[in-house]
Amino acid sequence: MTTKEKQLNSEYLKKVIEMTEVKNCSEKEFIQALKEVLSSLEPVILKNEKLYKETALLERLVEPERVISFRVPWVDDNGKVQVNRGFRIQFNGAIGPYKGGLRFHPSVNQSIMKFLAFEQIFKNALTGLPIGGGKGGSDFDPKGKSDMEIMKFCQSFMSELYKHIGHDVDVPAGDIGVGGREIGYLFGQYRKLRNAYEAGVLTGKGLEYGGSLARKEATGYGLMYFMREMLNANNISLENKTVIISGSGNVAIYACEKAQAMGLNVVAMSDSAGCIYDENGINLDVVKEIKEVKRGRIKEYLEVVPTAKYMENNGSTPAIYTIKADIVLPCATQNDINLETAKLLASNGTVAVGEGANMPCTNEAVDFFVENKILLAPGKAANAGGVATSALEMSQNSMRQSWTFEEVDKKLENIMVNIFKQCQSADDEYELGVNYVAGANIAAFKKISNAMIAQGII
Ligand code: NDP
Repeated sequence: MTTKEKQLNSEYLKKVIEMTEVKNCSEKEFIQALKEVLSSLEPVILKNEKLYKETALLERLVEPERVISFRVPWVDDNGKVQVNRGFRIQFNGAIGPYKGGLRFHPSVNQSIMKFLAFEQIFKNALTGLPIGGGKGGSDFDPKGKSDMEIMKFCQSFMSELYKHIGHDVDVPAGDIGVGGREIGYLFGQYRKLRNAYEAGVLTGKGLEYGGSLARKEATGYGLMYFMREMLNANNISLENKTVIISGSGNVAIYACEKAQAMGLNVVAMSDSAGCIYDENGINLDVVKEIKEVKRGRIKEYLEVVPTAKYMENNGSTPAIYTIKADIVLPCATQNDINLETAKLLASNGTVAVGEGANMPCTNEAVDFFVENKILLAPGKAANAGGVATSALEMSQNSMRQSWTFEEVDKKLENIMVNIFKQCQSADDEYELGVNYVAGANIAAFKKISNAMIAQGII
């Protein structure tokens, strides 16, 4: 139990949290995400408790509009039939068509899908764009698979998913294990099945067939735009700051690129096996070649830069977090930073943490950062640049236009500045004491709850 939960005064809120825990008792990540959000909403709930109770607003908010689970059979390169499980969670469509990525990773299950879809509702509301919350994926593991196997899997996955999506219905994109290659195969199969060119049904597409410039960079760049705003607002200069970034996938690579462009010294990056430490600053071209071209392991960095160090993960704290840094950007996966790791970061002098990943900090770690005045940029605000730019891709598809890189990047920057402002003004209005986690949740909740109430009991 986190400190915030212990202090709840709203009986209604307590009841909904308890009920949700009982109903979803086997879904620990979903419960974790719910508790983090709901407990932080107390100041708003207390102001309108009667209305929310009468309209069962919270009970409806925590129940997905639709959970779709399906079989994905495919044949591997040895002629053996493989069967995976596919998901699409259409959590809340009050603001617009469901929107959220697809994750292909062996850890995927209903709990992880629901936590991601729930977070997505709030994230999408913060972008100011008309998109509802959804998420999907499969327990398929793309690691070590041939291109042919990836294609066959994507085709089988889409053969079911296409029944449930559409540019005005539900618009998936990438996430862990789903990048440009996978989106291409998924889009091809959708187009074949529909016999129509409906570009706006998927985002993260290649530039040749309806993709947007700057979409690939958007989540990482957006994270750094948010970080810059947060540090400025708290009178912390970016000058001479060192950075460590967990992960070396899409989000991590482009967070690194923007951090370096802002003059920061990024000294470490990682993958699930371990991290590289290069005190002179990470050579991002080398990382891109390993990860984007060869699809290799981060350890291979040392073959090109022998002066760097490699540290393998062993123990509960990933090796990267033992490295001293002013700014820490968890950009890999959920629950990467627990309370013990949070304390280690504090003792190493970290001043700010920016969540590039979804829910990379446990609730106890979040509470620790907030209570110890370490600035925390919450994922649902700080990594919203990806989905925001996906929505810009949808706009370009609808208008049959392509904007320049600079145009999209400028719109992204404005969106991130605006998201930070929303977090700051909720923090000011509710006197949260520099708590952007609660600020983001409250700002998003106001918009979602207004839309849900306006649309009646559905
Ligand atoms: P990628 O698949 O491109 O990269 C994921 C990175 O995280 C890899 O370096 C991977 O290492 C590492 N990783 C994955 N699982 C684990 C694990 N269990 N333990 C340690 N490391 C792990 O994914 P993205 O960069 O797209 O996504 C990263 C995070 O950002 C996710 O939480 C995602 O939900 C979130 N996000 C992504 C957005 C996007 O636009 N792509 C938008 C908003 C949020 P390895 O190769 O060894 O598995």
